[in-house]
Amino acid sequence: MRLTVIGCAGSFPGPASPASCYLIEADGFRLLLDCGNGALGPLQRQAGLDQIDAICLSHLHGDHCLDMCSYWVAMTYGPGGPLPSIPVYGPAGTAARLAAAQGAGLAEDMSAAFRFETLTPGARRIGPFEITLDHVNHPVETFGFRIAHGGRALAYSADTGESAALVRLARGADLLLCEASFADGPDLPPDVHLTGRQAGQHAARADVGELVLTHLVAWNDQDRILAAAAGEFAGPLSLAASGRSFDLG
Ligand SMILES: [Zn+2]
Repeated sequence: MRLTVIGCAGSFPGPASPASCYLIEADGFRLLLDCGNGALGPLQRQAGLDQIDAICLSHLHGDHCLDMCSYWVAMTYGPGGPLPSIPVYGPAGTAARLAAAQGAGLAEDMSAAFRFETLTPGARRIGPFEITLDHVNHPVETFGFRIAHGGRALAYSADTGESAALVRLARGADLLLCEASFADGPDLPPDVHLTGRQAGQHAARADVGELVLTHLVAWNDQDRILAAAAGEFAGPLSLAASGRSFDLG
């Protein structure tokens, strides 16, 4: 199983990265996890737009799903005709939200390009991956992920405040891709995002093999976020970066 970071900027694209998007590959199957604004460009350095086998959307905030509108245009109007449809797994209301974002009219129905399926907590198989989902702690319905293949496991926090569900999903995982949106400070809003320190605490509680911090907001000092996580988690620790790959097993 290979994870490639397409986009790791939190909340809005940064100068060096689009918003959230990750490519997960195994056995020739390509799963896209989130598709935030700006992701479609660098995605094409890693895979053709006709080479994605499934897409999962953790939640429907724009920085996690808005490039699905651009993807729909690319799939629908190419000179070679429409591309074969892709299954898209997202929270309830995904189809209507994306159609509204693209605008009424031609995009009222994206179902020729995207076969929408609604995510629910629990286990499901997508391609070669055994995926476990649970709700995490964010103001809209948001799923955290555990993705297992070949005896290895990757966990993804999506966007979340402090979350026991995230610790359960990540328990013993080889790699935790965990958001670290907030710099430590007074009066941080609860139940929205994690600080670097809290990301490190979640990784330590889950006893993961490696922690990769992501959803990095451009106005933060990322070295301080990393140092805060290192104060809580003693294992291998790094910042996500667009184009970085991680091989698990
Ligand atoms: Zn969000």
